Amino acid sequence: MIDSKHFIELEEQYGAHNYHPLPVVLSQGRGVKVIDVEGREYYDFLSAYSAVNQGHCHPKIVNALIEQAQKLTLTSRAFFNDKLGVYEKFVTQYFGYDKVLPMNSGAEAVETALKLCRKWAYEVKGIPEGEAKIVVCEGNFHGRTTTIVSFSVDPDARNSYGPFTPGFIVVPYSDFSALEKVFAENQHIAGFLVEPVQGEAGARVPDEGYLKKCYDLCKKNNALFIADEVQTGIGRTGRLLACDYENVRPDVLILGKALSGGTYPVSAVLADNDKMQVFRPGQHGSTFGGNPIAAAVGIAALEVIRDEHLTENAFRLGEIFRAKMTEICKKHKICEYVRGKGLLNALIVNNLKEKDIAWDICLRLAENGLLAKPTHTNIIRFAPPLIITEAQLLECVEIIDKTLSSF
Ligand code: PLP
Repeated sequence: MIDSKHFIELEEQYGAHNYHPLPVVLSQGRGVKVIDVEGREYYDFLSAYSAVNQGHCHPKIVNALIEQAQKLTLTSRAFFNDKLGVYEKFVTQYFGYDKVLPMNSGAEAVETALKLCRKWAYEVKGIPEGEAKIVVCEGNFHGRTTTIVSFSVDPDARNSYGPFTPGFIVVPYSDFSALEKVFAENQHIAGFLVEPVQGEAGARVPDEGYLKKCYDLCKKNNALFIADEVQTGIGRTGRLLACDYENVRPDVLILGKALSGGTYPVSAVLADNDKMQVFRPGQHGSTFGGNPIAAAVGIAALEVIRDEHLTENAFRLGEIFRAKMTEICKKHKICEYVRGKGLLNALIVNNLKEKDIAWDICLRLAENGLLAKPTHTNIIRFAPPLIITEAQLLECVEIIDKTLSSF
């Protein structure tokens, strides 16, 4: 019989070991649930790191993908196609920007934003060539390219990948005065790159008002405020963008993941004409970026968010989830607290006794029918698809409660 063990062994033997997955082998996904090769059902509380906001295999998104795949899949940008412009109009109007630059992965979109920021700094702001600095935050996660890991503070993400790309200044997250100091002490700041909630750091929410103050400071210093909403965007935190909580409109907006509902790699950078005009033919691009399938899927994925009111659902159920989890935390000695926004939340557990306690909890959660993944040794992220119902969420809270009581 071909079982989980077989597929795990295949990956062990033939795949690079750059991930440490939970030992479940999934073969189907429907809505908020996934099913493994043995037929066991689980609630998905990771949603592929917030890519599957619309739920697994959403029929509207899958149909858009299939229909487009049968007509035209890829033209490259050497020619026009009849889908890209339609998507570009739709996505820019949806988020309220003049222009979009389509890419595939989140990391590529972040790279695009960094290049845009530097080019704007030299060609528009007038910073001397090679002198531009971009400020980033401690605890950041923006992807895995060499430039991006150059300003990571996570040793696993960074070590042994040097020499690193210079030109970045790291400040503590949610510390406005640290950013003020950097602006006061450095002449050539081109921009500030920030996650409005730090996802990989375990749903770290900055102090209220932080983003607005940082935005205002950027304006005062003619620097770009760049929001990486790859994980937080598209409804996840209970607003369309997490920046909306503080009425901040980023100069440069980075999106990915849920832009396709998890069916296809689709990412994007949005900005107004005065910034986006720095890119001219041949200066940036990607063979697959803006391909017809991505365009069709992107429209469908964003329509689902809007038409099914998933942002509103994330807000309402997020409040309920944190209230319930806060009660649960009081009952179990192992729990410290829960934090997050909308349906991007994390449980912080007490790490005093065991080294990999979060991992062990996740293994037991899986046995009890809920899949979550640790981020760091004592943090478990809880991020179900935004289509989850209140009844389903309450059932999941019970699973978490029951699991924690066994520790
Ligand atoms: N930016 C943020 C905030 C992310 O959370 C991630 C991935 O988790 C990325 C960028 C990178 O996206 P990708 O894995 O699609 O390259």
